[in-house]
Amino acid sequence: MTSPTNIRLSLPSKGRLMDDSLDFLAECGLPVQKLNPRQYQAKMPALPELTVLFQRPSDIVVSVRQGSVDFGITGIDVLEEKRGEDGEIIVLHDELGYGGCALMLAVPEAWTDVTDLQSLRTCAASLDRPLRVATKFPVLTERFLNGQNIPHALIAAEGTLETAPTIGYADIISDLVSSGQTLQDNRLRALGDGVIQASQAALIANRKSLQTNPRTLEMARRLLEYIEAHMRAKENLLVIANMRGESPEMIASKLFAETSVGGLQGPTISPIVTRESNQGWHSVSVVVQRSRLPQAITELRSIGGSGIIVSPVTYIFEEEPPRYTAMLTELKTGVKSL
Ligand code: AMP
Repeated sequence: MTSPTNIRLSLPSKGRLMDDSLDFLAECGLPVQKLNPRQYQAKMPALPELTVLFQRPSDIVVSVRQGSVDFGITGIDVLEEKRGEDGEIIVLHDELGYGGCALMLAVPEAWTDVTDLQSLRTCAASLDRPLRVATKFPVLTERFLNGQNIPHALIAAEGTLETAPTIGYADIISDLVSSGQTLQDNRLRALGDGVIQASQAALIANRKSLQTNPRTLEMARRLLEYIEAHMRAKENLLVIANMRGESPEMIASKLFAETSVGGLQGPTISPIVTRESNQGWHSVSVVVQRSRLPQAITELRSIGGSGIIVSPVTYIFEEEPPRYTAMLTELKTGVKSL
């Protein structure tokens, strides 16, 4: 049984966003334990005071906004569509790195004259009726088209949108695009400057719960701690090499002369105890950006590094997660600092 005082986190209940959220949390060290695949409640053994719920992405936004749920992971697309004006939702992390897509305007391929917003505006003006735009995102689409001065009539649609222009109940669509395959299959073309909202998965929270319940605040710190430590670690590798030198300082000065092997704060350099008298061998450990690994290896070799070992890093913990600090500032001042 869930205690009514338990803190609640809602995750997407189906599809790719659910699978990717569960994989992402497990990678962060926060695996979700679903006792029964049909149950809409689960636990997170690493954070036992958290109850995990599963909801539709747009319902997650509404639940967090109303405060029936303290935290949620959902797409920025539905967040921006449903977050409302009351400021009850605070975004703790807006780049979880998966669930990437964009809400875009797309026109029939046959509309060869319409290549961008300017030509769409001209086309809309030439019609003797408003341009009909089918969408599941009326708030974002309306705001965008008004901002672009494109006269239109929104057609609220459920289910498949892509067929609307062929069937004839809309002229163009405003829909989520990921690979672009669905548009291509339906002979539609996205307008290059028609991105209404770029999106990926985000972690959100209820502002009042953070402000009034110290346990929610502590949970925000722990969730961000795991997430940020993992995301930072994912971009880095631990490189260990043997190097000869008179002292750790002498070796450090050689390392600092190179660009890729300076480490997080600096390299860790420890003497290696050898059987024979002091040979000056040291073990050097540095955290290196994954993308800079080949360069780091070359640099280490050029200053005498040998026996180089490279291993993945699971977590890098900072003193306080930067996004937690940003959240505290936003709670206090109302201004987003990250
Ligand atoms: P794609 O063919 O990969 O461009 O995907 C487009 C189709 O998938 C459309 O039907 C979209 O409504 C849907 N879609 C793409 N990305 C998402 C997403 N992040 N969340 C929900 N639906 C999506």
